[in-house]
Amino acid sequence: MKLPTFPVEGGCQCGAVRYRLKAAPLGIYACHCKDCQRFSGTTHTLSMVVNATDAEVIAGALAGFDKAADSGRTVRMLGCAQCGTKIWNEPLASPHILVMKPGTLDDMGWAQPVGNIWTDRAQSWTHIDPGVPNFPGQPGDRQPLFDAFAAELAKG
Ligand SMILES: [Zn+2]
Ligand SMILES: [Zn+2]
Repeated sequence: MKLPTFPVEGGCQCGAVRYRLKAAPLGIYACHCKDCQRFSGTTHTLSMVVNATDAEVIAGALAGFDKAADSGRTVRMLGCAQCGTKIWNEPLASPHILVMKPGTLDDMGWAQPVGNIWTDRAQSWTHIDPGVPNFPGQPGDRQPLFDAFAAELAKG
């Protein structure tokens, strides 16, 4: 995996919200929880964990709501108030990070997931690579996923 030159930008479907990511993420993985199935309308979403200080909204404003995640933790889901595109969420238990939706990047070609979480909620017909870090639920610690991401980066 080869990272782009930062900063990079992204935004919502209608164009009202634009954001900037100023540095590399800590990790990218797929989440198969029911919440992600519901809000994406499909089998899973990608979660791209970034340092909260590395992300900034540069146009429009994020709106959202607080919800109890499948993990039992409270997550602030934020997206465009006009078109509803989810941009990122703030896990209130971990205020130093944001969990971005990398599909909102203008170019997500580099944003390859390195593992899966909530695999016990995944559909039987979803392909999950058994050779990557996989977790049946919410991992207590994301470090194995971050380590796998760093290993992919090291391969270039
Ligand atoms: Zn929008
Ligand atoms: Zn999820």
